[in-house]
Amino acid sequence: MEIREQLIRINPYSRPGTKIRPTKVIVHYVGNPGSTAQNNRDYFDNLATTHATYVSAHYVVGLQGEVIRCIPEEEISYGASQGNKYGINIEVCHPDKTGKFSAVTEEALAELAADICKRRGFDPGKDVIRHYDVTGKKCPLWYVEHPEAWLTFRERVRALVNPPQPDKLYRVQVGAYRDRKNAEKQVQELKSKGYNPIVKEE
Ligand SMILES: [Zn+2]
Repeated sequence: MEIREQLIRINPYSRPGTKIRPTKVIVHYVGNPGSTAQNNRDYFDNLATTHATYVSAHYVVGLQGEVIRCIPEEEISYGASQGNKYGINIEVCHPDKTGKFSAVTEEALAELAADICKRRGFDPGKDVIRHYDVTGKKCPLWYVEHPEAWLTFRERVRALVNPPQPDKLYRVQVGAYRDRKNAEKQVQELKSKGYNPIVKEE
């Protein structure tokens, strides 16, 4: 996952420059099927001149898994009402109106969310949330209508933040011999005492 930095202009409609101290990652869907990360980033930037509405996000994840940073994480973005004061907003592109993210998009989203959690010490289990969890809006649509897909996604982020440790084994050894016969002798002796030894070659 590579982040392309394309900061939008400072302006009252999408990047007022207000400082925040983020404590959550808030996930959205763009709600505009087929639009690209670049389209959405440029829309936010053009609000500086169109004045059409107040909306933006810190990041947009695109249809090919591309990631654009639009606003620095320590500045407010306009994505989730009251959540803007504490949230890093991530908008995510989707091919159709179901709002389901493609596999490559979801992978990049998981990597981005995990990267933020690692850098900022966030707990993926409670600090990665949906827009829905802030305001009840059906956003991101697929994760609201398929709560199990949301749980799977969060588990994926958690696994990236805390990779499982390889299983360790602790072996008990009573000897090591150059001559196989001596090893067999030791086996017989242990067997006579009720143990169940095996010989392993290295
Ligand atoms: Zn949203």
